[in-house]
Amino acid sequence: MPVDPKSLAQLRFLIEAGADEAIGAVPIDRFRSPTPARSAAAPLIESPAPARPAPARPLPLLATGAATESAREQAASCIDLAALRDRLASFEGCALKATATNLVFADGNPAARVMVVGEAPGREEDRQGLPFVGESGQLLDRMLAAIGLDRGSVYISNILPWRPPGNRKPTQQEIAICLPFIERHIELAAAELLMLAGGTAASTLLGRPEGITRLRGQWFTYQAGARRLTALATFHPAYLLRRANQKREAWWDLLALKQRLIAGG
Ligand code: URA
Repeated sequence: MPVDPKSLAQLRFLIEAGADEAIGAVPIDRFRSPTPARSAAAPLIESPAPARPAPARPLPLLATGAATESAREQAASCIDLAALRDRLASFEGCALKATATNLVFADGNPAARVMVVGEAPGREEDRQGLPFVGESGQLLDRMLAAIGLDRGSVYISNILPWRPPGNRKPTQQEIAICLPFIERHIELAAAELLMLAGGTAASTLLGRPEGITRLRGQWFTYQAGARRLTALATFHPAYLLRRANQKREAWWDLLALKQRLIAGG
């Protein structure tokens, strides 16, 4: 019998996440708070991505303060996601736009209860104009599928809508300039639950100085205008591709997300 490649990919993810048994004859409540023994070893630190990042581009066309202010005004004036996308497409305050091929705004279902926010587009995302469609996006899809979600049931975006050249880490200046847009984006989308993938998304949106190894697995409140959302920080799929041993923790986070969804947000 031919094997469905999607099921095979999901199965691989589960095995890498530590699943070690198939369905038994007696049901087991796997959503009951997992209390796995944590390793006593020191937490692994997220390593910086590319070996030779391209240098940060010199300059936003406006000084950072003015560009951030302009972004804030423009984002606030958008009454829906279509307007926000148009505004971003014509925004000239962030130098990343000049080196990017496409604006990467969002993918998935804007009416979904879950919104995933990552860091910034990579090469494939820049080429296609869609978030999380490269290798880490494929892992994200498998992770979501493992808890019964897909791009029809989540909404996906990034802190930055343009690819930093050479996939380097975004600078604080670039993040500050683009922040009003992702904040408004979250406000205009319908999600009740935010999944913050990686340190950049978590520390930027939660305003926390801690790294992702400390923030992950915890629930936070995120105020999106008048709406109060719950936010869960977790590892970025690109990090999990480099550190497969951390998939177990990512799996706990996914289960917590699923449990919260079932409980009603
Ligand atoms: N990494 C991200 O943070 N976002 C993407 O869209 C792709 C890779």
